[in-house]
Amino acid sequence: MKRREALKYLSVTPLAGGIVATTAKAAAPEAIAAARARGLVEELGIRSFINAAGTYTAMTASLMQPEVIQAIQTSSRKFVMLDEVQDKVGEKIAAICHSEAAMVTAGCWSALVLGTAGVLTGTDQEKIAQLPDVSNLEKNEVILQKGHNHGYIHALTNTGIKPVVVETSAELERAVNSKTALMYFLNESTMHGKILHEEWLAVAKKHGIPTIIDIAADIPPVENLWKYNDMGFDLVCISGGKALKGPQSAGLLLGRKDLIAAARLNAPPRGGNIGRGMKVNKEEILGMYVALEKYVNTDHEAEWKEWEKRVATIESAVKQVAGVSTQVTVPPIANHTPTLTITWDNRVKITNRDLSEKLRNGNPSIEVMRNGDGVNLTVFMLEPGEAEIVANRLHEEFSAAV
Ligand SMILES: *Cc1c(COP(=O)(O)O)cnc(C)c1O
Repeated sequence: MKRREALKYLSVTPLAGGIVATTAKAAAPEAIAAARARGLVEELGIRSFINAAGTYTAMTASLMQPEVIQAIQTSSRKFVMLDEVQDKVGEKIAAICHSEAAMVTAGCWSALVLGTAGVLTGTDQEKIAQLPDVSNLEKNEVILQKGHNHGYIHALTNTGIKPVVVETSAELERAVNSKTALMYFLNESTMHGKILHEEWLAVAKKHGIPTIIDIAADIPPVENLWKYNDMGFDLVCISGGKALKGPQSAGLLLGRKDLIAAARLNAPPRGGNIGRGMKVNKEEILGMYVALEKYVNTDHEAEWKEWEKRVATIESAVKQVAGVSTQVTVPPIANHTPTLTITWDNRVKITNRDLSEKLRNGNPSIEVMRNGDGVNLTVFMLEPGEAEIVANRLHEEFSAAV
């Protein structure tokens, strides 16, 4: 920043000196307006793009709703106690999601860490302070299925637990022992495991073992916000920044009152615990609540129809080019939204790598996902009017390749 510009910004901040007392209140909105007018993405030359790919973390996942930004902006002007924000917001979120209690975490991954930590420590301060050393804990094993053993298990092993991987019901029964602390279920991998939710829960209940489920990207449908709580999972973990369109670095931990209370003892504002680095600020906690409220009150049927319309717009444009085919599918779990797969035969002379590069480097830049030899598109992260742009750009590139 040039010195002159720096002074301009300083003049509207409390650091400026003598004028502070009288102008600080009035200056704040002015500073916000100046910051908004600044357009940092353009100023720093950061590429922005139309997201026809989906809620990918690397692509910043989703765009927050105006109500969320409003909540962030207004709460940012007030000091409050962080715990009180969690208390009040937690009650509201729990009521929406049919859980006894809830907390806003720094994403689904953080919900998995804190939920597991809470199960291991309860409210015992000594245990909280010793994690991730679980060597002297009576219970320090977590059981999961082989088909559910993906990278996300790192969230649990971060607490120090030993994962115990099973494949069959018989193996599960043999694996349960006095050291079993928790049973973990990865919802998106349901079909990759031999044991389904009901059986998993029945075994856990029989032995008095708590259960945790990762449903990070499994909304929509909206009912999933409460389905797994109703089903009997003790802890449910969800991403806040995917289809819920809350802050990207926020998530939800829902579940039993005692376990949420224990999870909170492993998290800020308290230190001396493994969750200290998983801080969520008041703005994000409140923004997450508003995002959830807005999502639940959305007309999901109308939204689905709009998605189908967008898919049809793109589909009909690309199919005008001989050799291009399309298929629409809806993944049953995770990113449950109309997904358009576009493939082409050898009449169309372009690789999917070249196509996605051309879309990326075009104006406006567009992101799609490569899939096999074709590309995959979703439309739920598009802004109004963008489906037409995507349709035109794809038509342009396919036409140029024949
Ligand atoms: C995205 C995702 C996570 C991580 O969620 P964050 O909100 O980014 O922390 C965990 N598990 C699954 C299955 C996911 O898809």
